[in-house]
Amino acid sequence: MTTTTTDNVDLAELAKFNSLASRWWDTEGEFGALHQINPLRLDWIRQHTKLAGCKAVDIGCGGGILAESMSAAKATVTGIDMADGPLAVARLHQHESGIEVDYRESTAEALAAEEPGEYDVVTCLEMLEHVPDPSQVVRSCAELVKPGGHIFFSTINRNPKSFLFAIVGAEYVLRLLPRGTHEYEKFIRPSELEAWAREAGLQLRSSIGMHYNPLTKEYSLGPNLDVNYLMYFQRPEGE
Ligand code: SAH
Repeated sequence: MTTTTTDNVDLAELAKFNSLASRWWDTEGEFGALHQINPLRLDWIRQHTKLAGCKAVDIGCGGGILAESMSAAKATVTGIDMADGPLAVARLHQHESGIEVDYRESTAEALAAEEPGEYDVVTCLEMLEHVPDPSQVVRSCAELVKPGGHIFFSTINRNPKSFLFAIVGAEYVLRLLPRGTHEYEKFIRPSELEAWAREAGLQLRSSIGMHYNPLTKEYSLGPNLDVNYLMYFQRPEGE
């Protein structure tokens, strides 16, 4: 498959997510890992900010796993994605679950131009490693959030251990993810993410690693950022 790029979108990446979209809410399917990690990442977000009553946007929301869970926590949630398959599944699923999310086909860049400074909380999880220019997405997230607002990213570190665990282990040995889900070159070091965020005027508040234990088949959060990790930033008040 050739990769065509328009805006800050990788069409080959969108095609991957479109082809699997119908499986998004199958907890035993290709996106099972997202279902498993969701309570952990939602808890971590809630440790840092109150979701109830806030206005949140989930960038690269896919089928809406995180978006729905933030809405269930009483946030008013917008979910944006550039793949129409997952968005269609997300829109259908909210009828089943009764949990409301405003889903839109958009990029972080386009939404930031339309609604700058409108959101209390911006989440962008497991998405940066699928776009041509992740630093631009970070800048757009910084534009979307209100002064004093909260931004959460998650992605995968880039080093020999993350190659072994996130690609060889997760895609080939344990089959936690479909083969070809991730490309090593697109992984992002915490220092890179932090530098992009700092350049966008954000302050790092906290970071945490996410680990998979193949024996218990469970994920947990911990201090080691070597493979999967989350980072929490804040836009300073009054800026
Ligand atoms: N954030 C969700 C889904 C992660 S999968 C979760 O963690 O549960 C990555 C998602 O990013 C896919 O749905 C894909 O279509 C979307 N995506 C990839 N490039 C994008 C872009 N440039 N703008 C918006 N969404 C994008």
